[in-house]
This record gives sequence, structure tokens and C-alpha cells, in this order.
Amino acid sequence: MIYKRKKTRQVRVGNALVGGDAPITVQTMTKTDTRDAAVTISQIKELESIGCEIIRVAVPDQEAAESLKKIKKEISIPIVADIHFDYRLALVAIKSGVDGLRINPGNIGGPKRVHELVRAAAGKDIPIRIGVNMGSLDPEIAERYGRTAKGLVESALTHVSLLESESYYNIVISVKATSVPVTIEAYRLLSEKVDYPLHLGVTEAGGARVGTIKSAIGIGSLLADGIGDTIRVSLTDHPSEEIRVGLQILKSLGLRTGGIELISCPTCGRCQIDLFKVLNEVEKHLPVTDEDLKVAIMGCVVNGPGEAKDADVGIAGGKGCAILFKHGKLVKKVPEDELMETLISEIEQILEERKQV
Ligand code: SF4
Repeated sequence: MIYKRKKTRQVRVGNALVGGDAPITVQTMTKTDTRDAAVTISQIKELESIGCEIIRVAVPDQEAAESLKKIKKEISIPIVADIHFDYRLALVAIKSGVDGLRINPGNIGGPKRVHELVRAAAGKDIPIRIGVNMGSLDPEIAERYGRTAKGLVESALTHVSLLESESYYNIVISVKATSVPVTIEAYRLLSEKVDYPLHLGVTEAGGARVGTIKSAIGIGSLLADGIGDTIRVSLTDHPSEEIRVGLQILKSLGLRTGGIELISCPTCGRCQIDLFKVLNEVEKHLPVTDEDLKVAIMGCVVNGPGEAKDADVGIAGGKGCAILFKHGKLVKKVPEDELMETLISEIEQILEERKQV
């Protein structure tokens, strides 16, 4: 490994460990109304099935806080309640069995409330994430430091000191900005000052295209520095896309191995099938697995067969069809409209065969 990861304190978020030598986890936030438990549970299960390891839900009111109990019962990954200002909601969330809180103790109305919150969190041994975002930076801090990386870090440290004054160290921190350079600078600064685990993210990064690039550069640069213990990609898109991008960032840096590696060509004038469509559909239907498996989706028989033969399973496009290779051998010709189903079924078959060994 070319990067040396900074060793942070380890905290437990339900059945996930964050920090220390625990693998870097990928998390996201639901985009459903938390008060609607059934819809929220269904989204969490979908996210679980594609590799989400920690889920956060917004808790804007009492009804949402009470809904957490139902949600918690039905899911297997740890759940974190995201609360702003109202510490009473945090107390209900803790009673409802959440595995972590995201709340900034400096915003809940004074030391008595911080004391009560910390005692409740300590009673259940759940971590508190302090999450400072540039968009909601404390006005006093903004005046003193400007909307800068230093301002983000100072704000986070002020919240941290409130928890530490209660002898509470079960802490995770994030300092997010929409600007990639500011985000990188803030986390680097913060990492020099604390040994708490860090939750990385570029906030309000944008839609799938821009947001993926900003997150990959911001989160990726920090991870390459050895900074970061859990990551959340923020996209104006379905949360499953955030998980896929998060996992891909870890895989691209070699911080996560296993799973299916998809290789596809960019296509050119030689391609005579709709390869974009085939790739999109295959991506959507890929099974989740820790097995190393290489799948090649290539547009033509010029460069296609070489890559397809090298993969566990692969196709090389022809005219309205493609030839399919499995474990290096040409197996059959498949019509274009059956390519997705055929590839997925071959992948599932290989996974099944490996289970039998
Ligand atoms: Fe073009 Fe064929 Fe190469 Fe794809 S594999 S880029 S279609 S030459």
C-alpha cells in the first residue's frame, strides 16, 4: 500500500467499527421521509443490498424520532440519527435504539442540555458525530476566520471541547465544504489536531456527473494522504448512486478489494451494437459480491476478444449481436437484446460455481 493511513481512535457504530485499523466504511443518507417507516426501510434495504455499511436518516421532528424504533428493527446495518438543534429529538432517537447521532453540541442550547445528551449517549455507548458544514458555519466563527478551512476546523474543535468537557470521547468529526480545495485543506488541518476518526465528504457536491468528480478528487486526495475513516458521497441523485461512487473511490485507491470489476471500451465507429445501453443495464443488475470477478464489455472484434478472453466473462460486439467468452473460451453468439440477461446469468453462474468449490 502506497499510503500510510493515520491511526485514529476507534469507535463502534452498531456492528460497524470506524477508525483505528477498521476498513474504511461507505455510508449514505436516506432521501425518504423518515416518518414513513415503510418507505424508509425499503430504501435502506435496497442500499444495504448494494454495499451501504452505515445509514443516516434525517430526524426533523418527534414523529420522525419515534419512527426510528420501527426502522431499526427491520434493518441490519447501523443507523445514525441526523439532528439539528433539538436535543430532545436526540434523546428520543437514543431511546429508539439508534447506533449513532449526528448533532453539534454547540447548537443545542447550553451546557445543561449537553450534559443530558452526553449522559444518554454514554448510557448506550453510541458515538456522536460533529458535522460542520460551510453552509451553516457559526456566524461568530465566520466573522473571526472567514468562510475558510480554518473556520471549519475551529468550529468543529469548539463542539469537540463541549463533549470533552463532559469526558466524552466517543466522537467522529466531519468538516465539509462545497469547495474541493477548502474541504481538503480543512481535513488536513483537522487531522493534525485530533485523533478522532474522520467522516469524509464534499458537501452539496452536485449531480451525478459533477458531484462524482468533486467527491472522487476531494475524498480521494484525503484518502491518499492517509486521512479518513468513513466516507459519504453527496449527490443530487438516488442514494444508491452515492454508495456505488463511494465504493468505487475506495476500489480505485486499492483500499477495497473484491467485487466485480467491469471493463468496457469507449466505443468508436467500429461498434455496431448499443454498448452504452448494455453497460448501463448490466451495471444496474450486477449482483453484490466480495468475489473477485472481471467482466469485459467490448464493442467490436478488433480489441474486444483480447479483453473478453482475459476476463472471467466478456463480450465482443458484432453486427446486432456479440460473441461471449467465458474463462477465456468462446462460448456462443448472443443477440443484442439478450446480452444483459445472458451476462448477468453467466456472472451468477460463476458465483454459484465458486460457492460449490
Ligand atoms: Fe472501438 Fe472496438 Fe476498441 Fe471498442 S473495442 S473502442 S468498438 S475498436
